[in-house]
Amino acid sequence: MIIDRPKTKIVCTLGPASSDEATIEALIQQGMSIARLNFSHGSIDSHIEVMERVRLVSKRLGIPVAIMVDVPGAKYRTGQMKLSALHLDTGKLITLSSKARSTSQDIVNIAPHGIELDVEVGTRILLDDGLIELEVQEVGAQGAVCRVVVGGVLTEGRGVSVPGQVPRQPFPGDKGMEALEFAARHRADLVALSMVHLREHVDTARKILEAHGHVPFLISKIELEQAISNFDELLDASDGIMVARGDMGVEVELARVPIIQKNLISSCNKSGKPVITATQMLESMIHARTPTRAEVTDVANAVYDGSDAIMLSGETATGDYPVDAVKVMAEVALEAEAALPYANLIEERGHYRETNISDAISYGACQTASQLNLELIVAFTESGSTAGRVSRYRPNAPVLALTPSEAVQRRLLIWWAVTPVVVEKIETVEKFFDLAEKAAKDFAGAEAGTDIVLVAGLPIGVPGGTNLLRVLTVS
Ligand code: PEP
Repeated sequence: MIIDRPKTKIVCTLGPASSDEATIEALIQQGMSIARLNFSHGSIDSHIEVMERVRLVSKRLGIPVAIMVDVPGAKYRTGQMKLSALHLDTGKLITLSSKARSTSQDIVNIAPHGIELDVEVGTRILLDDGLIELEVQEVGAQGAVCRVVVGGVLTEGRGVSVPGQVPRQPFPGDKGMEALEFAARHRADLVALSMVHLREHVDTARKILEAHGHVPFLISKIELEQAISNFDELLDASDGIMVARGDMGVEVELARVPIIQKNLISSCNKSGKPVITATQMLESMIHARTPTRAEVTDVANAVYDGSDAIMLSGETATGDYPVDAVKVMAEVALEAEAALPYANLIEERGHYRETNISDAISYGACQTASQLNLELIVAFTESGSTAGRVSRYRPNAPVLALTPSEAVQRRLLIWWAVTPVVVEKIETVEKFFDLAEKAAKDFAGAEAGTDIVLVAGLPIGVPGGTNLLRVLTVS
């Protein structure tokens, strides 16, 4: 078989290091399935430009790429600076203020408003994902006067967090609203919601998107302590989850992050919703051509834990080696996937089967492929749900998903092992058998005499349940 991409999908955050056409093309060739536009950084115009470029290159290459809009949440950030960087020496006193117009040597401008209300004397504040630590000495009219406990170099747009405290800001906020409207207007395929911690946040985002006429696949980013506590309701309200380890590592004790990651992934796997593991996976590749041993082990472990997708942030957005980072990630994922205990996975995940026909047929497809050692499952899917259901049982055989819709094709790019292909609209099951055979040869290199597993819902062409399972010998 010739499906040589990893089953685990790769999300790349695009930024200054990866906005040009040649780099986007190389990222796609090396394995990027989802391009993430992070609305915490960059202008709307630059996001439009990059998004259009991704769509153009994807079309030219004939390789689908989904667009993910990452919606900023309630998070304080350092605002405009007159200086290119501010050196904060340990022991120095500085004031964090949402009133100051810009940052100078002694005052750091924080946006949006409100940080003064969230802190008191003794509060620990972490800047830039925890690289710099402050302790509040005094809260006054000018802002929060802090002593630098761990110094460092501060630049614009860095995160400012008060661990354990949810910023008092309305959801979605101005920037969040702007990103949601963008996602609807430009028909993004996925939306990631930062800093959500209540079901109503996800419901509100869905309503806003509905009101704007387009609802992408909604992913909740789990980063706050409150989101971890309310995980079940967030999972229920969302289409998928991101384990956002960057902010999480600041918001909760760092030592807890690996176990939280494993627990969240396991819950997603049981519920059949896709999960992305994110942040610092190959961090050292921002400045080095090769990763550390610990980083490649982290990528492999994320695959082993059950991630549907793995994500690159700074590595591809601002790093020196964006294309090498994707290449390494794809190679490591392929190796890890080859070593997965597939027979055990199908058995284990069978405990979470649902009692409905679609799920029984989808599980049956995986079991059949496993028992007969078949190398390909072909699913006909109008809405994408059949392919998603098959994916959740982690078959060793890749899943070729045939769909008449380009939008469904792109949404399916988040699901583990699914290679989505657009086919003509069909109305009969015979036509599906013909198409499946042709797609198996064209896209998976299936040879004559090979048995493949087919799944679909009858009647063909009418969205609904999955009720057909067949083993077909390629002629
Ligand atoms: C994270 O915190 O891990 C994350 C993915 O979010 P952001 O990149 O927006 O900080």
